[in-house]
Amino acid sequence: MLASRISRQQASRFFSLLKRNNSTLVIAEHNNEKLTPITLNTVAAAKKLGGDVSCLVVGTQCSKVAEEVSKIEGVNKVLLADNDAFKGFLPEAISPLLVATQNQFKYTHILAGATAFGKNLIPRTAALLDVSPISDIIGVESPDTFIRTIYAGNAIQTVKSNDAVKIITVRGTAFAPVEVTGGSAATEPAPGSDVTNDLSEFVSQELTKSDRPELTGAKTVISGGRGMKNGENFKLLYDLADKMHAAVGASRAAVDAGFVPNDMQVGQTGKIVAPELYIAVGISGAIQHLAGMKDSKIIVAINKDPDAPIFQVADYGLVMDLFKAVPELDSLIK
Ligand SMILES: Cc1cc2nc3c(=O)[nH]c(=O)nc-3n(C[C@H](O)[C@H](O)[C@H](O)COP(=O)(O)OP(=O)(O)OC[C@H]3O[C@@H](n4cnc5c(N)ncnc54)[C@H](O)[C@@H]3O)c2cc1C
Repeated sequence: MLASRISRQQASRFFSLLKRNNSTLVIAEHNNEKLTPITLNTVAAAKKLGGDVSCLVVGTQCSKVAEEVSKIEGVNKVLLADNDAFKGFLPEAISPLLVATQNQFKYTHILAGATAFGKNLIPRTAALLDVSPISDIIGVESPDTFIRTIYAGNAIQTVKSNDAVKIITVRGTAFAPVEVTGGSAATEPAPGSDVTNDLSEFVSQELTKSDRPELTGAKTVISGGRGMKNGENFKLLYDLADKMHAAVGASRAAVDAGFVPNDMQVGQTGKIVAPELYIAVGISGAIQHLAGMKDSKIIVAINKDPDAPIFQVADYGLVMDLFKAVPELDSLIK
């Protein structure tokens, strides 16, 4: 009895010692002007590891972002890498910078959000450092053990890593964001910021401009599927979304059919969302779609097929033709 109590105490002391010795680098995601909200979820995951949290701000003319990051609760230090070579946030340019930073500071963990940016950067960096990346974690069990989903969210996996540095992407919806206030971290230049990138060149990007909230951060999301029939009919959802201050998403079938652009796709191979309210319109509820939205607080489904699988996860289901239901709903919302 005594022996088991001592060993439990020893184990807990060992874990807190491990935590104290941790030092984590979070790679901030931003557009050179403003921080992307997933950074705040990623810092929350970093805090669960214990120890110091530093943030790397890498970009082009991004000192404003470094200022913003220095105020984040729980960030101890900001490393700034500001260089034209980082235009377009290409992983070919940023990975060598991360390797140089790691060689100097010997972090125990490097974290980025599980977004297109993080998913682009982390595997390349892990390969250069010769460790296994751990992707899309939804929980931290201890400094070396992490929880993640597999099989489109149908099974939960616990992964233990013995690598000297754990290189991880974090699912934002699984960690409540930290506050952007309360911190006062010092900023210093990141080592190896003077990189050149001969492997790839940033040409241009076209950004969708919208007054609606960003899909992954919106409190309400209305998504349309193949049932919308064409792109013009999505206007029904845009009008409703404007009244409800909602973001508009889509199933992959709607994206593949060209109804809407692919940055609106929700699901396993699209964006992961967990809003307060998710309204699925003309979406059948394939597991790959559910993988991106089933953690939403309240799910409403509108579908004319009473056997559609979406009704199995819906809190409220409306078996109705969407072309009748959506205008009716719209007329009821002031
Ligand atoms: C590797 C892989 C990854 C994938 N990743 C994703 C992903 O990230 N996201 C994703 O969404 N899918 C993904 N898919 C595709 C997925 O399997 C489904 O094919 C897709 O989600 C179906 O989209 P849908 O529900 O819009 O279309 P459908 O399955 O065709 O469903 C359309 C629904 O609309 C209803 N409907 C039709 N007309 C009306 C009407 N007038 N009123 C009301 N209801 C109506 C129908 O009853 C039906 O239920 C992936 C598939 C694979 C293999």
